[in-house]
Amino acid sequence: MSNLISKTLPDYAIEIKGLNKIYAGNSLQPSKEALTNIDLEIPRGSFFGLLGPNGAGKSTIINIMAGLVIKSSGEVKVWDYEIEKEMRQARSSIGVVPQELNIDPFFTPREVLETQAGLYGVPKSERRTDEILSAVRLSDKADSYARSLSGGMRRRLLIAKAMVHSPPVLVLDEPTAGVDVELRQQLWSYIRELRDHGTTILLTTHYLEEAEELCDQIAIINHGRLVTSQKTEDLLRTLDSKELIVSVDTPLTKVPEKLAEFNVKLGKSGKLIFRVAPTKVPVESVMDAVRAAGYKIIDLTTKESDLEDIFLLMTGGDNKGEKIRGER
Ligand code: ADP
Repeated sequence: MSNLISKTLPDYAIEIKGLNKIYAGNSLQPSKEALTNIDLEIPRGSFFGLLGPNGAGKSTIINIMAGLVIKSSGEVKVWDYEIEKEMRQARSSIGVVPQELNIDPFFTPREVLETQAGLYGVPKSERRTDEILSAVRLSDKADSYARSLSGGMRRRLLIAKAMVHSPPVLVLDEPTAGVDVELRQQLWSYIRELRDHGTTILLTTHYLEEAEELCDQIAIINHGRLVTSQKTEDLLRTLDSKELIVSVDTPLTKVPEKLAEFNVKLGKSGKLIFRVAPTKVPVESVMDAVRAAGYKIIDLTTKESDLEDIFLLMTGGDNKGEKIRGER
């Protein structure tokens, strides 16, 4: 850590400029342009979400940052270290928690962490094995074979493994895929703690509610190109679209003609569902129109646009077939 502390803290934990990646082809498959001209800045201390459908290029970006895939061109800095020219420092500034639960079954959690610390050259006196095991609530399993750990415990052990060299940037690749609700909550509270102590978190996820809830900034990539990178609240505002669900005193079987000027449809159980742009059509004017059409409003609920609407819009709706919400 000493080499990291002595340096002025960078504004951006990750800085990517004009990044391209073409995977070379072979006799069986053609070459593949996986990333095209990606510019991305991840502020230090942020909880940053990288979203995109399968095959968008998320893992390629992460693997380039971690030094596992060689970029074709462009500039990538981790903690202000250029990943190829200052490879050693760049690598020691980042910890990656992979998707796969790949752990040697005959290693104990303590051995996994000690071996990893050795790989990163962390001197014995500076190792934090017990502290990290306790943080991921694995102290009581410290000396059990990994094969006896549950899926959730293995996931936590992988997070612990990525933390042994105290990297200021932690990357989590789909960390809660297939993880049950309780464990997910535990994982998030631990990752939030890390963030509160200054670690920059980069997360890829399929679960949009997760990104919406946790990330303060979100980048969306599609077909290897950056579609947007914004503060989550700004992104959620971009759609300017809201749903108003109105129940009236008379059971409806079709949308009343007097309301046809609105973007409105009849929902199940005879409710009217309006989709309006709040900056152009105030809720009040919808209510006035319903009353003017001769109905009494007995209930009104609203639903803001969410990340799923934005994601579908920004990725051109070509991911509709994919389950991006509510799989669990
Ligand atoms: P994501 O993580 O968003 O699902 P990836 O980065 O894995 O996307 O993949 C981006 C594109 O690059 C995909 O079309 C994928 O098939 C291709 N790709 C990924 N890895 C390789 C590789 N080693 N060789 C060839 N093509 C690859």
